[in-house]
Formats: sequence, structure tokens, C-alpha cells
Amino acid sequence: MIIAIDGPSASGKSTTAKGVAEKLGFTHLDTGAMYRAVTWGLKNAEITADDIETIRHFLSEIEIYFDATNRIHLNGVDVSREIRSGNISSRVSAVSAVIEVREKMVKIQRQIAKGNNCVLEGRDIGTVVFPNAEFKFFLIADVDVRAKRRLIDLEKMGETKTISELIADIRRRDELDSSRDHSPLIQAEDAIPIDTSQLTIDEQINKIINHINLNK
Ligand code: C5P
Repeated sequence: MIIAIDGPSASGKSTTAKGVAEKLGFTHLDTGAMYRAVTWGLKNAEITADDIETIRHFLSEIEIYFDATNRIHLNGVDVSREIRSGNISSRVSAVSAVIEVREKMVKIQRQIAKGNNCVLEGRDIGTVVFPNAEFKFFLIADVDVRAKRRLIDLEKMGETKTISELIADIRRRDELDSSRDHSPLIQAEDAIPIDTSQLTIDEQINKIINHINLNK
């Protein structure tokens, strides 16, 4: 069974997808982590998002995998922590707009999830990666709530940003992700919208679990 959870950044997807996967005993696949890992790799190799030829070559040689504890490795390096930095967040939308990057990531995502019970979270899971997913959810939240969530995440990493900087970052990323040519962030017609602004993590998870239990 495939469960698709899409939505904009900091809408609560990761925590919810992780909790739903744990409760159901499913695999959790954080597709945003994959785009972040590619962004980290390109930055590390000093390759810019407009250098398509070099990106093609880079993609032909990369190895991305999630280990048993769901930490992400790029070419043998555990990049789970580095990919959450503000620096990667501000670059990832440009990288994920590159069609060659998307094709490669979608291929890997389908390979990981195919034949498995999997909760995938991202931007295009219900529209492009698994349009026939059994269940589709689209998470949203007010921008100030999302900025506060990001602030807490970044503080844990020792980074300081103001709420207004984070609101600007989130708006910019929403705009880039929603307006790109390939697989833009958009709610699938058959996805169930959930506004997480006023919900606790447990409430978010239970809403999805209850819906699945009632409809499977
Ligand atoms: O979910 P997260 O905020 O970590 O995703 C980081 C970025 O990766 C998004 O802003 C988006 O540009 C890209 N992304 C994507 N398609 C996905 C998942 C993430 O384009 N399925």
C-alpha cells in the first residue's frame, strides 16, 4: 500500500509521515531529504544548478540510500544533519526544479517503494510519483506557524534566524516549488487536505490513521 503525504515546507509532513509509518509498520520515505542530499552534493562539488551537463554526469555516478535508521547517505557519506542547514534549504528549490534531478529521484523513489508498504512524503507524490496511491493527503499550515516550526528545527542545529527571515524563506520556497515547470507543488484532486496549524503531532497522525482505518 502506498500512502502519499504532500504539502509545502514545514507543513508538518515529516513528523506526520514518520508517525503514520511507525504506527502502521510501513517504510517511511522522506523524498525532500533526497533533493536536499543532491543539493548538498552539488554544492560540495561546486556545481551550480544551471550547469546541466555537469549535473547529468554527477547524477550518473551518485549513490543515495537510507540506512536501517532512515539516515540518508550520499556516496557513502551520512549527510542527514548537513542537509537540514539553512544554506541547503535556500538552494534546494533551484536544484529540485532541474528535470534531470527529478527524473533520477523519482526513479529511485519508485524502486524503494514498489511492492512495499510505504508512506512517502514530498511535493509530487500523489500527482507524479504514485498517482494511483491508495491514500493521498495534502498538509497545509499558516505561514507563521510554519516559520516557528523551522525556527525550532534550526535552533536545535545552532543556527539563528528571525521569524521574519524564515517567513520570507518559506514564501520564496513555496513560490519556487509551486511555479516550476516540472512536477510543481500542487494538491492532487483526490488528496484530502489537512490544516495542521492548530493540531498537535498526535492529532495529525491520528487524523490520517483514522481516515485509513475507516476507508481501507
Ligand atoms: O520537504 P523538504 O522541505 O525537506 O523538501 C525540500 C525541497 O525539496 C522542497 O522545497 C522542494 O524544492 C524539493 N522537493 C521536491 N519534490 C519532492 C520533495 C521535495 O521538489 N517530492
